[in-house]
Amino acid sequence: MYEGVVQDLIDELGRLPGVGPKSAQRIAFHLLSADPVDVRRLADVLLEVKAKVKFCTICFNVSEEETCRICRDPRRDPTALCVVEEYKDVVAIERTREFKGRYHVLGGAISPMDGIGPDQLHIRELLGRLRDATITEIILATDPNLEGEATATYLTRQLAPLGLRVTRLASGLPVGGDLEYADEVTLGRAFAGRRAAD
Ligand SMILES: [Zn+2]
Repeated sequence: MYEGVVQDLIDELGRLPGVGPKSAQRIAFHLLSADPVDVRRLADVLLEVKAKVKFCTICFNVSEEETCRICRDPRRDPTALCVVEEYKDVVAIERTREFKGRYHVLGGAISPMDGIGPDQLHIRELLGRLRDATITEIILATDPNLEGEATATYLTRQLAPLGLRVTRLASGLPVGGDLEYADEVTLGRAFAGRRAAD
C-alpha cells in the first residue's frame, strides 16, 4: 500500500480491464516519473474522448457525430445489415474487409444471469430499421458463446416473419470466445461462409 493519491492512482488503473495489480503499479510509477506534458496529454485525451464520443443514433456504433462514418457512407451496401454485440465487433469485422453493408450494435447479449433481456438491448431499434424494407439480408454476428447463441436464436425467431435472408457466421470461430479476439483470417472466412440461421 502506498500513500494517498499514489494508491488512488494504482487503484483506478487496477480497475481497467486487463490491468492486474502489478501492471497498475508499473503504470502508476511510469506516470509519476513521466514528463508532466505527456501526462497532461493523456489526461486531456481521456476527458476529450468522454466529452466528444457519442453513439450513432442509427446503429449505436461509437461516433463523433450524430451518425457514424459507416452509416453516412453512401458506398456501403444499404441492403445488408450485420448485427453485433459491441462496437468493438464492428472494428473486428471491418478489419476483415469482407463486409460492405452496415451494422447494428445491440449493446450486449441476452444473459438472464446478468439480468439482461431483449429489452435492455437495441432490438426495438433494429426492428425499426427494417420497416422500410431496404434491408434484405441480416447477418447475425454475435459472439460464439452461450449468450451470443441465445441472442442469435432469439433474433432469428423475431426476424423469421419478416421474410428476410437471415444468416449466421460459419462455424470455425473459437467456441466460447469473443468475436473481437478472432483473427482476421478466421473471422473473414466465417463471414464469407455464412449460412442460413435456423
Ligand atoms: Zn451508425
